[in-house]
Amino acid sequence: MKLELHGVTKNFLSAGTLQRALDGVTFASDFPHVLSLIGPSGGGKSTLLRILAGLSAPDAGEVRIDGALLPTAERYLREYRSRLGVVFQAYNLFPHMTALANVMLPLVEVHGVEEAEARERALQIMERLGLADHAGKHPLQLSGGQSQRVAIARALAPKPRLLLFDEPTSALDPEMTAEVLTLIDELRESHTPMILVTHEIGFARKIADRVAFLAEGRVLEEREAGEFFTDPRSEEARRFLTKVLAY
Ligand code: ADP
Ligand code: MG
Repeated sequence: MKLELHGVTKNFLSAGTLQRALDGVTFASDFPHVLSLIGPSGGGKSTLLRILAGLSAPDAGEVRIDGALLPTAERYLREYRSRLGVVFQAYNLFPHMTALANVMLPLVEVHGVEEAEARERALQIMERLGLADHAGKHPLQLSGGQSQRVAIARALAPKPRLLLFDEPTSALDPEMTAEVLTLIDELRESHTPMILVTHEIGFARKIADRVAFLAEGRVLEEREAGEFFTDPRSEEARRFLTKVLAY
């Protein structure tokens, strides 16, 4: 998958002052499986991921995926979004529906799959993710790790062409974190390209093919992951890695 960003800018008006969340993000990345977006908190990672997810429009600049411009018209955006799987920090499951119903929902509502087939496909993916025993439970009866795996099942069920993760483990305790990271690692085998925002730097180092380092609204480097971690070029990345790898 090829991703190209040129001059992507996004401002927010916050308490009367203009906050520049993305300040002309320009980079290109060819990634076979996993591109990891890392950098200090407040650097613009979530803002960038929301733009890539078609959930927020940049104020300026261009995004191309495999050469095609990210659409701006709502009608095309809807179609674009339907081919992505997005997993956020909070699992955003519907509390009044079972895990199975949560996984089926986008298949039926967005993709027009018939109920019976949607159920079969949802159960299949839940089985693959070790969730078969939890299909009939409601989100409140699930642990954080299980809920996040349901959210991942929901994202995977429509067979997206790209998966986007925004700090999928940041609300989880260490054991649950390991459970979800193992699952993400296994997803490599499904060959679906992924963009992963994570503060689990050790994990990013293990799983990422390429890294884009984002700080103060700019991508300061985009590199092969091994190179980035052993020899970061920018002073900011050096400082960041020294800090996060110190413990
Ligand atoms: P990260 O995910 O790297 O921590 P974010 O993309 O969340 O960074 O935020 C980048 C900057 O944009 C921060 O200064 C943040 O406060 C600001 N920001 C993000 N979203 C909003 C919003 N909806 N309203 C106002 N400011 C925002
Ligand atoms: Mg964020």
